[in-house]
Amino acid sequence: MDCLFCKIAAGEIPSTKVYEDDICLAFNDIEPQAPVHILIIPKVHIASAAEINEQNSAAVAHIFEVAAKIAAEKGFADGFRIVSNCGDSAGQSVKHLHFHLMSGREFGWPAG
Ligand code: AMP
Ligand code: ZN
Repeated sequence: MDCLFCKIAAGEIPSTKVYEDDICLAFNDIEPQAPVHILIIPKVHIASAAEINEQNSAAVAHIFEVAAKIAAEKGFADGFRIVSNCGDSAGQSVKHLHFHLMSGREFGWPAG
């Protein structure tokens, strides 16, 4: 499958790794929108948040555990945002589920 994040998960395309285990990979976003901008992806291909179901949701729960762990270890657990853009209208440019973990600045709400 011609999927950028599957290739990053497989190590075929380099990334700045922040955390890795059997289920997920976290790496720095190539175009950071905040002082901390990490992407967390499941290693299995899930196209978007719209494809989360009973069979694959354990990986998503795990990703949120990992996000909390990264925030604690990097010292920004007091303020961060997790975002997953789903579909073209929401600005999803890579069709492999990913969670943006962002911190280090003020975030407006509602998000534009
Ligand atoms: P989205 O637009 O929500 O689908 O998010 C995709 C994100 O992937 C964007 O923030 C991009 O900057 C980021 N991105 C694209 N290619 C790479 C790459 N090779 N390494 C790291 N981040 C990337
Ligand atoms: Zn993929």
